[in-house]
Amino acid sequence: MKQKKARENYCLGIESTADDFSVGISTFNGEILANIISAYMPPEGGIHPREAARHHAETASKVLEEAFKKAEIKPQDLSIIAFSQGPGLGPCLRTGATVARALASDLGIPLVGVNHCVAHIEIGKLKTDAKDPVTLYVSGGNTIVSAFDSGRYRVFGETLDIALGNCLDVFAREAGLYQKPSMPFGAVVEKLAAKGKKLVLLPYTVKGMDMSFSGLLTAATNLLKKGEYKLEDLCYSLQETVFSMVTEVTERALAHTEKREVLLTGGVAANKRLQSMIKAIAEEHDAEFCVVPSEFAIDNGAMIAWTGVLAYKQGIATPIEKSFVKLRWRLEEVEVPWVK
Ligand code: AMP
Ligand code: MG
Repeated sequence: MKQKKARENYCLGIESTADDFSVGISTFNGEILANIISAYMPPEGGIHPREAARHHAETASKVLEEAFKKAEIKPQDLSIIAFSQGPGLGPCLRTGATVARALASDLGIPLVGVNHCVAHIEIGKLKTDAKDPVTLYVSGGNTIVSAFDSGRYRVFGETLDIALGNCLDVFAREAGLYQKPSMPFGAVVEKLAAKGKKLVLLPYTVKGMDMSFSGLLTAATNLLKKGEYKLEDLCYSLQETVFSMVTEVTERALAHTEKREVLLTGGVAANKRLQSMIKAIAEEHDAEFCVVPSEFAIDNGAMIAWTGVLAYKQGIATPIEKSFVKLRWRLEEVEVPWVK
């Protein structure tokens, strides 16, 4: 008699920390069946948290529907619901959490609150086969150099003010550049930087293992307004300076920890120049360079689903009454018992 196939376990993950609303579906073995991302694009200026939250609320049902369709499963097939519980923008996080709570209670299945930064590292490890890397996570909202030690991902260095991606985005907006979903501001800057030749001196601020980008952004913006330099040269100089800063900190973390892998993730990981700099220091230290494919490097629901699976397998779940969002939930506060 043909044996009945064991029912697969699925986790649905909701990501809503900032401008992206995304739903991913992962099996308990780490097969990603769906990863639908809806990005909010402000008509002008930066992300307004309430406007982004409105976008999330308006697109949630469509994104969920698409995810189920892509994964070819029904809501009743799910075993758990995971959601990004923090860190992030309050209104955006609360919108995702509300959707997650509603789904979990409606289906009568456990809820798992996931730390967004841990999720970036876990999906990176899943997708690149990295086992125990030093991770450089650079995005629109975060800039963190971390590595695992004694039960947690420890922060070796981070930004003291704005995130690297935000620095590129604000500069691009000041320069009147135009972005499309297919070409975010960081990518527009990258394209222009490739044509730059002159390296203009900009403030390089690394304090201990931490970095500061706001003074550099002001300096670059002031030079832009003076009109003495070509925009391409300023983009080139901005990139060279900020990427050198994160590369320096990553290299020091690598030298200190003697890890054998370097993982690059977050939206800025798509940048070829940054990739080449991180690859160079990895090679210098005989470490493997791993970069997360862009669909899983930007904010995405699949990373939340997969981290939800890892946590749930360790008996971790979040009762609804404890599922309040944590706007400043730091990476090193989270115990990760699934990492040995
Ligand atoms: P995330 O916050 O992870 O969703 O990523 C968004 C950030 O990645 C924004 O700051 C983008 O400008 C940035 N980004 C996307 N593509 C590139 C690129 N090719 N080079 C630099 N930054 C990029
Ligand atoms: Mg984003």
